[in-house]
Amino acid sequence: QHERVIIIGGGAAGMSAAAKARRSNPNLELVAYERSGYVSYGACGLPYAIKGEIARIEDVVVRTPAQFAKQGITALVRHEVLALDTVAQTLEVRNLETGVTFTDHYDKLLIAAGGSPSRPPIPGANLPGVFALRNVEDALAIQAWIHQHRPSQGVIIGGGYIGLEMAEALAVHDIELTIVEQLPQLLPSLDAEMAAHVHAELERQGVAIQTGQGVSAINGDDRVREVIAGATSFPAEIVIMAVGVRPNVNLARQAGITIGPTGAIAVDDQQRTNLPNVWSAGDVTEAINLVTGKPTWVPLGTTANKQGKVAGENLAGGAARFGGIVGTSVVKIFETTAASTGLTEARAKAEGLAVKTASATANSRAHYMPGHADIHVRLVYEAGSGRMLGGQLVGHEGVSKRIDIIAAALHAGWSVEQLGELDLAYAPPFSPVWDPILVAANLAK
Ligand code: FAD
Repeated sequence: QHERVIIIGGGAAGMSAAAKARRSNPNLELVAYERSGYVSYGACGLPYAIKGEIARIEDVVVRTPAQFAKQGITALVRHEVLALDTVAQTLEVRNLETGVTFTDHYDKLLIAAGGSPSRPPIPGANLPGVFALRNVEDALAIQAWIHQHRPSQGVIIGGGYIGLEMAEALAVHDIELTIVEQLPQLLPSLDAEMAAHVHAELERQGVAIQTGQGVSAINGDDRVREVIAGATSFPAEIVIMAVGVRPNVNLARQAGITIGPTGAIAVDDQQRTNLPNVWSAGDVTEAINLVTGKPTWVPLGTTANKQGKVAGENLAGGAARFGGIVGTSVVKIFETTAASTGLTEARAKAEGLAVKTASATANSRAHYMPGHADIHVRLVYEAGSGRMLGGQLVGHEGVSKRIDIIAAALHAGWSVEQLGELDLAYAPPFSPVWDPILVAANLAK
């Protein structure tokens, strides 16, 4: 009899693992349980689907259950895993269509349950017209609301990257927006001086920003009407709650699986949990931060795919390893791109490191080329050794690939001086002869 591999969660991590396990071992029985109606969807594309840049929301689906079936992978949507017994190696599953609950057995298990949007207990948060965005169904609901109610005013609660992507997505639908963020700045992946450029872009685009004030209530009747923050009422016919994400660790915790210091599932470098025959990957899982050497939780699709691939190989009997992450991210905010990797100055200080920074504003292309624009660069490095700790970039063009140069430097453990010596490509349409990264690195003392 063939080994039975069960995967909890049919997102990026779960289905990458399934596909890799299948390629590595054609004889495995592979079953993925997914509680939503879709597997293998690119959640990252959802804001652009709501914006209308992608024709249909379902276009973010990479592969359907029927396509997985052709590979011999059983992907069961609308099936929720309710409980896990890691001694008997069984799970209790509910078919959400029929309401029938049944027991399944695994030889090997992958927990790839992902994360869920945080839902702070704000009165009125359940009113019709208040949404969080995580999966295809959420996006379909937001789209339907916009079409049905044609909201003219909206509030986005939370100024992280999903909140900012949704600002752009909703603005296209002629919705006048306010972003309410309780911290003093938007985008915690940036130091304050870099976030200021993002604030400026949003204001240029007509989006109001209210920082330093948490939302105390959401009011309405049969639907949402206003959001209260401090002493101010913001009229709203649509509200997006984007106040962060939490790892879905309840099943794992109840089953005795070790939860790490970050609140996500602790794994070794082969994605194994503390329990035999149980692996974990994706947003429900920690990773090692290569800059600090400590566990970190940065729930991103990039990591979910990589951890899923490693877990998939190991479910099939392999010994693949996942080295860790530096926490690289990029976000488009209307005409501006903001990117970050490694530690911010604030984060590095919180880690007890002796930090220095070097900042520069330089041209994205040769100054005589039409279309050139400022790129703001901020490098964070260790005093004394000069070891690179992180970097941030904000600008109109050329940001997304330049952040990857800094990410590579972090993986390599380079100093800021080594970064400043790189032989980077130059021609006038692409960069100035001194690339903005080199300009900033050469300002480091
Ligand atoms: P998930 O995608 O959360 O998948 C887990 C699945 O498990 C879910 O489908 C869930 O329904 C299912 N599940 C949970 N519990 C159970 C259960 N008990 N039984 C059955 N099924 C269960 N990342 C980037 O790198 N770049 C981006 O630009 C980016 N943009 C994003 C934009 C948005 C709007 C969102 C929401 C996320 C974005 N991300 C981005 C993050 C990225 O989508 C996630 O990191 C990635 O989806 C994680 O994959 P995962 O498989 O670990 O988790």
